[in-house]
Amino acid sequence: MTTKLLIAGDWREALSGDTIPVLDPSDGAEYARIGRGGAPDVDRAVKAARAAQDGAWGRMPAVERGRLLVKLSHAIAANAEELARIEARDTGKPLKQARADSLACARYFEFYGGAADKLHGETLPYQPGYTVMTIREPHGVTGHIIPWNYPMQILGRSVGAALAAGNACVLKPAEDASMSSLRIGELAMEVGFPPGAINVVPGYGEEAGAALSAHPGIDHISFTGSPEVGTLVQQAAARHNIPVTMELGGKSPQLVFADANLDEALPFITGAIIQNAGQTCSAGSRLLVEAKVYDRVAEAVSQRFKTLRVGPWDMDLDCGPLINKQQKTRVDGFIDGARKDGVAKLAEGAIAPNTPPGGYYVAPSFFGPVTPESKLGQEEVFGPVLAAIRFADEAEAVRIANGTAYGLVAGVWTQNGGRQLRLARALRCGQVFVNNYGAGGGVELPFGGVKRSGFGREKGFEALYGFTALKTIAIKHG
Ligand code: NAD
Repeated sequence: MTTKLLIAGDWREALSGDTIPVLDPSDGAEYARIGRGGAPDVDRAVKAARAAQDGAWGRMPAVERGRLLVKLSHAIAANAEELARIEARDTGKPLKQARADSLACARYFEFYGGAADKLHGETLPYQPGYTVMTIREPHGVTGHIIPWNYPMQILGRSVGAALAAGNACVLKPAEDASMSSLRIGELAMEVGFPPGAINVVPGYGEEAGAALSAHPGIDHISFTGSPEVGTLVQQAAARHNIPVTMELGGKSPQLVFADANLDEALPFITGAIIQNAGQTCSAGSRLLVEAKVYDRVAEAVSQRFKTLRVGPWDMDLDCGPLINKQQKTRVDGFIDGARKDGVAKLAEGAIAPNTPPGGYYVAPSFFGPVTPESKLGQEEVFGPVLAAIRFADEAEAVRIANGTAYGLVAGVWTQNGGRQLRLARALRCGQVFVNNYGAGGGVELPFGGVKRSGFGREKGFEALYGFTALKTIAIKHG
């Protein structure tokens, strides 16, 4: 299964016959190979999806579609441990995180399975003698380009919603982490999805990904990844004027005010940057602290950072390795750069003894105080690096929080009810958590960015609107 592509319900070799090595980030060694899908394979997958859309899948009543999604949810839950192990080895993430990811993936298919027959249009007031209604129709064939950081979760939220809305999907997983997508594709076939409803074409971004975004047979693209590649995907989609959803990166702030319940806040603050070794688009990577409590908060977070341990996925520690060598080099570059710029490193965690030498390990690092304009205050590291920034008052906190190119998520820690609401409105981002923080959490909660973090919403019921086109029907009957 692993070296093949899932097209039209069959497992086929890439037409080129080529494969891509799969490296274990925990030791850097090749442990498998996956198919290297290219433009001709993408073309076959898009045609298969179109045939499904014009055939059994497109004709299936919404309630039956929903039942199939729920069946897939049950299959994912029943195989959750196997999927977690596949994902942990493929991405390096600690097993407990991968277990949470497989259950979240099952939950997405459960949620969207339940929603499939509850998506409907409206009747609208218009002139006498008319009946006007709207209906929600699937776009047709949707393309899904997903990254390596949470393959199962992002597959669930993106493909799950698109299928529920009646689209047929072509999924291009990341070249660094395709294994769970292939296995979930296999489970989808086992539970009875019609051939072509779900196609999985692994391959390199600039080959399979670029071919998918440029394919004239695609009606909508959901992209999750870096802003730079997001721009390329939009440019390709613009040639056919098709809609896109862009889930891009972030530099999400956590704002801690002097009146916050620090005991409650502290585990969230560390967890929000440590989860998945900081390779989370909604990682809480900036810690904005009111000057009055800065020293206290910095000290408490430092203590926690000193206890953090990094190791291979199966040691199941606080952090695993980063996904690949390039990502490690990039994150090490941020840490070295901060040191050269004279930024104080307040604390760091430790790489566990006896970790395999070839793994891509980075010790979690906590810096502060960092200036809002500095690299660590502005740029997405996508690693376990937390930057503390001091603020004097609420106005300055908002200015700093909004002062990056990104706008994905924010966390606010305060007991003051008025301030909670003021900040929830003043922060420019797609999600605000007050006295809690959910890096990636909440299947039911619409998620997405503003500014450079992207546009369109995935997750929750809202995602279904993005995966449909609204048609207005006006009937003059006298
Ligand atoms: P990436 O943009 O390099 O890759 C994402 C996907 O795009 C992969 O499947 C890749 O193969 C594909 N791709 C690469 N080049 C392509 C091209 N020319 N045309 C079409 N597809 C192409 O990102 P990454 O390195 O995998 O992930 C890290 C970045 O993704 C970070 O910036 C992070 O913030 C962002 N991210 C955002 C979210 C979100 O939901 N907002 C989630 C995860 C990751």
